[in-house]
Amino acid sequence: MRLYTHPTCLEHRPGPGNPESPARLEAVVEAISARWPNERWHHAPAATREQIMRVHRADLVALILDSRFQDADDTLHIDPDTVLGPGSADAALHAAGAGIHAVDGVLGGQARRAFCAVRPPGHHATSMQAMGFCLFNNIALAAEHAIWVHGLTRVAIVDFDVHHGNGTEAIFAADARVLYLSTHQSPLFPGTGAAGDVGIGNAINRPLAPQTGSGAFRGLWSGDLLPALAAFRPQLVLVSAGFDGHRRDPLADLQLDADDFAWLTGELLAIAERHASGHLVSMLEGGYDLKALQECAIAHVDALLEN
Ligand SMILES: [Zn+2]
Repeated sequence: MRLYTHPTCLEHRPGPGNPESPARLEAVVEAISARWPNERWHHAPAATREQIMRVHRADLVALILDSRFQDADDTLHIDPDTVLGPGSADAALHAAGAGIHAVDGVLGGQARRAFCAVRPPGHHATSMQAMGFCLFNNIALAAEHAIWVHGLTRVAIVDFDVHHGNGTEAIFAADARVLYLSTHQSPLFPGTGAAGDVGIGNAINRPLAPQTGSGAFRGLWSGDLLPALAAFRPQLVLVSAGFDGHRRDPLADLQLDADDFAWLTGELLAIAERHASGHLVSMLEGGYDLKALQECAIAHVDALLEN
């Protein structure tokens, strides 16, 4: 198991009052480092502009990478949630680079699993629009890298963040090489991800009512989503690991516990073992209660480290 992060991911500062704060990543890295002091962190290199252009349109890439700021506190609001500042371009490049290099590490045989503790998150970003705290779509960039550089033809993206990964789904809407699976609270931002929304047969969306809780969440994965994932026989399992489904999260009300994320991680690993030589790359998405985020990240990484 490889852990990836980069200190520049702390330099994206959307400002006081924005829940997607640098403190989130500090909390995750601190908790994992305290629990496993001997696990080495790999510093994620920056993605290249060419790699970013595999997913994102030139005007969005230019907005994020080439905007200029007058001073350290200057910001540019893309929307009320999504903010650029002087440190945002480097943070976004290293967050994307983490997934790309984790894919290289896993498919290159250096480790079978990886967890990328990075921010800003990515799954709301479409090819042309940064939104919902997300600048570049980190998990989509990792999937495209696996397809274009490593020649994979079946890549699964499992998204258990409490919000629907509208950007990821849209990017692969017409690409049968990628299967997108998501549970998400509904109604909730961004409002996409209806059960009838199946793409070209490569998207499985399961909206969940508020207060769904552990039993129904696990039942849905066991009875429906995990069998579909196994039937796809993924060569690589990518995970959009958002922990904002936790019962203490301030942005949602799904009423999950850290144990639920540990359980689902174990189930995903079992499918990765069966079909993908154990190859799984997980990337941090949401999670906005710092203590809950730490508990969930520990549970997730603990499952990734076992065996
Ligand atoms: Zn989320």
